Amino acid sequence: MTKTAFNFSAGPAVLPREVLLQAQAELVDWRGSGMSVMEMSHRGPEFEQILAEAEADLRALIDVPARYKVLFLQGGGYGQFAGVPLNLLRPGATADYVVSGGWSQAAAKEAARYGNVHIAASSEAQKFTEVPSAQSWQCSATPEYVYVCTNETVFGTEMHTVPAVASLPAPLVADVSSHFLSRPIAIENYGVLYAGAQKNVGPAGVTIVIVREDLLDRAQPSCPTVMNYSVMAKNSSMLNTPPCFAIYMVGLTLKHLIAQGGLAAAERRNIEKSSMLYAALAASKRFRAPVREADRSRMNVVFSSGSAETDAAFVAFAEQRGLKQLKGHRSVGGIRASLYNAMPLAGVEALVQAIAEFERT
Ligand code: PMP
Repeated sequence: MTKTAFNFSAGPAVLPREVLLQAQAELVDWRGSGMSVMEMSHRGPEFEQILAEAEADLRALIDVPARYKVLFLQGGGYGQFAGVPLNLLRPGATADYVVSGGWSQAAAKEAARYGNVHIAASSEAQKFTEVPSAQSWQCSATPEYVYVCTNETVFGTEMHTVPAVASLPAPLVADVSSHFLSRPIAIENYGVLYAGAQKNVGPAGVTIVIVREDLLDRAQPSCPTVMNYSVMAKNSSMLNTPPCFAIYMVGLTLKHLIAQGGLAAAERRNIEKSSMLYAALAASKRFRAPVREADRSRMNVVFSSGSAETDAAFVAFAEQRGLKQLKGHRSVGGIRASLYNAMPLAGVEALVQAIAEFERT
């Protein structure tokens, strides 16, 4: 089967073809077990192996220190917007939020339901075309944590570095959903980080949370049990039925990524792809990328002609060429090309060519 389209969706998003084909081959009978992964008891030896391997591969791939727990939870990014304060924000205490786009803003709003939120910095006045520099963050006196979203999927900004632990008044908590596994990451810089799988790691339905052990056991009494990091860690993410099939797909994607050379190799490919597209936009007479150069995301490339009509015409033009799901997020419009790990270079080349052709018409 050949690839007929390139899928630029922001998420759920393109998965490696090899992974989909392997899942297809194993769909009805997982490795001679006579069962689909969808049909297995999560307490059986088969699924236990799938879960254990997914965790081991993730730990190896990103070099997770032993003092961090890896959890496979449900509820997505929005679940963690609540899960973070419910687990870390003790009564009467304050959490600091850096608002760099719609997702960190939504997280701050949700956290305010469970405790005091202090906005340490915001780039809303810049229409979220940049990330507030770490020097500009004005943290509160004794926050419980400092929250960031390191890749704002809608606006197409990426925090390419995070502050050193010693320069912050509290552990850093990061929503890394839309660039997780796109580049190496130093886990020691974070107290907690989390990612919904449906961008770079697998299908929707599972959220990976990595939490430093000393941050367990401070959950608010009202924290739902399935969201409680400590309880879920003690139960190896199996307090209740986990999202088995999604975890299995994540496991296949991790093995594929390891076979492709790991995160350093993924980063090289992602730099090549995104640089190619940004260079084409810099040369374009019709389109421009609004994000400040230093803060441009390698995963979500946002651009626009300045006219909603022209943007829509381009999305339709590209669609006819098999370049799918290029429409910008409904809240901002424009065009967005998401270039996750599984987007091949050929897809970006086809997009660059479509931009050039569109300009000639
Ligand atoms: N954080 C980021 C960075 C996102 O891109 C998204 C969704 N696109 C979310 C959080 C919300 O995730 P979910 O839809 O899984 O709740």
